[in-house]
Amino acid sequence: MSDIPTENYLAHLNEILHDQTQPLSNSFRYYVEFLRNTANLIDKGRFTRVIVKLFKEIKKGDDPRGLKIGEMLFALNNAWKPTSRLIIQKTSDPKIFIIRFTNASDFAAAIYSIPNRVHGKLLTMRMWSSNSRIEDIDFTAQDFLISFELRGDLVERGFVADKVAEKVGKVLTLIGHVNEKGEYQAHVIAYLTRALVHQVKIIILDGEDRETIKLNIFFMVIPHGTCRKCWNVDGEHSNEICRRRMVEYKKNMPKVYVYMEEGNERVENLTNAAASLRIYESEIGKIDFQNRGTKRRRIETDSAIKIEMIVENLNQPKDAGTGKKALQKLVVTLIL
Ligand SMILES: [Zn+2]
Repeated sequence: MSDIPTENYLAHLNEILHDQTQPLSNSFRYYVEFLRNTANLIDKGRFTRVIVKLFKEIKKGDDPRGLKIGEMLFALNNAWKPTSRLIIQKTSDPKIFIIRFTNASDFAAAIYSIPNRVHGKLLTMRMWSSNSRIEDIDFTAQDFLISFELRGDLVERGFVADKVAEKVGKVLTLIGHVNEKGEYQAHVIAYLTRALVHQVKIIILDGEDRETIKLNIFFMVIPHGTCRKCWNVDGEHSNEICRRRMVEYKKNMPKVYVYMEEGNERVENLTNAAASLRIYESEIGKIDFQNRGTKRRRIETDSAIKIEMIVENLNQPKDAGTGKKALQKLVVTLIL
């Protein structure tokens, strides 16, 4: 996301923030708010201070106070190539710094380096103001750009890509497929407190048959400090912890179920149709954001809306006379 944020991007972040059907966890909400606030500032050509956490372990023999201001400044000048001066302040935590920008475009360049790295380690950012307190800041989420490839029969089932991306984190954008290899690209927010989702199991159920595919998730930029065995961003861990985490990940690998059987697929499609009634979240880019904004405001005036769908009752046998399955009314209530 090196683009300067557009109105659409801001509208989209606002929609995610107000998506009541699937409330965001506190960490994700905090981070989406950060993205929205900074995008707003960039849009207006303004800038602010940020507080950053550098995921760099302090080893024996290192200065327990962490990187010196001069070292940090050198690294950031290399990473961002700012046109104006950066002012860096240390805090009581050796991994946490406060950075003041003196130029809006430098601020934009820093915010839209996803993710930021210093000496190969992750540098995650949040807003900082004179009212902020370090202990209130949540540093446990970060956005990443990812890609993955789905084979043809899974590309045809459009929902599979959505489900895969959702396993990695909160999806801000999903684009695809972008080529004949079935490649999808996504911008997602992931937790830093657990392993990055780098492999997903797709389980395809077709009647009695069951096929399992292990799908690799490719992180377009990843801090070198990320452990390539247990995929934790925070490199501070022993071999024992690393092994335990690897076993844990394999045991609980995120799974996406795909039903090939016709009946089950109908249920699947129906579930997806009901999910897409959330209106503001899915189908990015297909619907004009402003239209959706209006639609949402209109919906918000009611406390709940009911949507009715007439569907075949899949569990009922066919009617002997007409040969059709009984129809059933499905009522979905959205509480807003
Ligand atoms: Zn590890």
